[in-house]
Amino acid sequence: MNYIILDLEWNTAFSNKKKKYINEIIEFGAVKTDENLEIIETFSMLITPQIGKKLNARIQELTHITDEELSSANNTFTHTLKCFEKFLGTGVLLTWSTSDILVLIENYNYYYHTEKLPFLTKYCNLQAYCEKILEFHKPSAQLGLSACVEMLEINNDCLSMHRAKDDAIMSFYCFKRLFDEQKLRSMTELALTEEFYKKITFKTRYITEINNPNVDRTQMFFNCPKCNEEMQRKSRWTIKGRSFTSKFICKNCKKEFQGKISFKLRYDETLINKKLTPMEEIKKEQKRIKAEKEKAEKLKKQKAKVKNKKTTKKQPQ
Ligand SMILES: [Zn+2]
Repeated sequence: MNYIILDLEWNTAFSNKKKKYINEIIEFGAVKTDENLEIIETFSMLITPQIGKKLNARIQELTHITDEELSSANNTFTHTLKCFEKFLGTGVLLTWSTSDILVLIENYNYYYHTEKLPFLTKYCNLQAYCEKILEFHKPSAQLGLSACVEMLEINNDCLSMHRAKDDAIMSFYCFKRLFDEQKLRSMTELALTEEFYKKITFKTRYITEINNPNVDRTQMFFNCPKCNEEMQRKSRWTIKGRSFTSKFICKNCKKEFQGKISFKLRYDETLINKKLTPMEEIKKEQKRIKAEKEKAEKLKKQKAKVKNKKTTKKQPQ
């Protein structure tokens, strides 16, 4: 079994043909391992853009790739993809988070008018895999590649961040360190099915409509953190940011809380996150913000006054 870890660099470009922005791939970088997790081959190709004319300043800064390098590469996406297909063979494709595979699908669709990658048979999201092994559970954050490298104390001195091949090598180091064949197999998906594309292109979102059928009303309660009795809701549910928010009171302890519940809709599950904060803390925080605002406003007024004085002084008599 071969594992192929792919990393892409891309540039956002406006397509006149499609009348929308496309994440145009400018570099492919990958490593291929054997079943003993030794690198047996690497892949690195720059692509001359056909949609965008110039690299965005941010991409240039991030990757240190220049327009000249890309144009002298004299290489197309379709050619690169053919070479990569050979490189991939029937191995398992891994990318750090699904963004790279989604961008690959986007580019493939641009040139071949279909969202299915016919050369892809098995896929695993390496970020999700590492998160699982490291038991990294943060509902609002994902484990970044550099954070993972740091966490595992991997020496990456001779690699440069944000270049495709080096990022692929860094991902490989994390993969090798955290390798568990059984867990990996359970997280590897067959990419030949309709289901796979439905799942991977599904956009995770927070539900903010109370009548949405995915809002599980039976979960919208809170127990008192002190006496564990179910509390009484004191106000209507309102949406604050991504959460349904309401006031709760414990009749035993006579304490008030703000309860927040969010429903994160994923392809095959809805993640519920509940948070309870004592009302006094909320009030304290509101007071602090108010005081800060007033202070800033006062300072602004003072500055304006000084400036006014200066300009009056400068005026010729
Ligand atoms: Zn209580």
